[in-house]
Amino acid sequence: MTNKTFLKKVQRNSHLLPYILSPRNNFSRLINEIKILRHANSPILKYRPRKLSIYITSRCNLSCNMCGYQSTHSSGEFRTTSRYPDMDLEKFKHILSFFPEAYSLTLTGEGEPFLNKDIFRMIDYAKNDRHYHIDTSTNGCNLTNRQIQDLVDSKLDALQISLDGTCPAEYKHVRGGTEQQFKNLVSNIKLIHSLKNSQKILLQINLSFIITMTNYQNIPRMIDFAIELGADGIHFQNVVDFHTEFAKNNRPLLTTDTDAINFIDSIRKPPALKRLILPLPYHPNYGNVKHFVPCPHPFASIGINTNGNINPCFQINTNECFGNIFTELDTWNNGSFQHIRENLLHGRMPFQLCATCPAFGEGI
Ligand code: SF4
Ligand code: SF4
Repeated sequence: MTNKTFLKKVQRNSHLLPYILSPRNNFSRLINEIKILRHANSPILKYRPRKLSIYITSRCNLSCNMCGYQSTHSSGEFRTTSRYPDMDLEKFKHILSFFPEAYSLTLTGEGEPFLNKDIFRMIDYAKNDRHYHIDTSTNGCNLTNRQIQDLVDSKLDALQISLDGTCPAEYKHVRGGTEQQFKNLVSNIKLIHSLKNSQKILLQINLSFIITMTNYQNIPRMIDFAIELGADGIHFQNVVDFHTEFAKNNRPLLTTDTDAINFIDSIRKPPALKRLILPLPYHPNYGNVKHFVPCPHPFASIGINTNGNINPCFQINTNECFGNIFTELDTWNNGSFQHIRENLLHGRMPFQLCATCPAFGEGI
């Protein structure tokens, strides 16, 4: 590894240093990090995952137009067909115990994480007993005032809220939600922001928008709106092609869309924001990209659902059986993981979905 790559890696994870250096777990996180820096990437890894995505529910209160998991317009290929029960605290603790080296935790699911009644107890345990950096996401329109207060009181580090519009019509276009749901969402974001300020807590609030060729020109307006609502960061994500009706009618931005790319390149981060992630255009034919840069996720993280099914990639649902932590000895280096890493290291896409995934090209 060159010094430049080393520094890039350190810089990318600098906010996680206190978690890596934590003396808990007998410095196993630090030792694992040293192994990550020392060992070259290969299909079988000599280190353990540093990031966990725990799938705590497969239920959702929405059925968004662009969602591969839940949309009723989805072709079915990516839909969550085998539902699993919501995870409870005991199962959560048991799953974390398999990965003592990990220090970054995403509470996720193929649905809305805040439908899981144990979510705050999980955050409490993961922070106080395990000292994780914790983030989660929400569609935000169903949160109660009680949940919002618990959320602000919890030790969550970052919350991503899917906003996807500056008015009910834009919101409906992407999410399929009603005017009332949009109003609830906006007032919930405002409440989180005001409680956060009055209690002086550090929770990072990131608002996200799905971007397509049909709405990229609204980005400046979306930025103003998100700042007005108190966002710390904004994440614009080029639409992933989950083969939904939405993706058919609202195609992603491609590197060949010169006008759109120039428009996006001219956008600068306003000082009010800590973080602005602009949409990454996809190559029209990723399989032939000359300077191929593989996606980092199957080399750093693992997803696990309530049943113990693992997932090497956060875009794919946990229906597909890539392995199970309760029945296999080493899921992290099992045949599925090796196959996926082998493909990435040889410049091949392990999934068709990679062609329209923002992580493709991020670099290991
Ligand atoms: S809120 Fe999330 S999981 Fe639920 S339908 Fe929408 S995109 Fe899918
Ligand atoms: S690039 Fe492919 S493997 Fe990586 S996260 Fe995206 S879909 Fe998954």
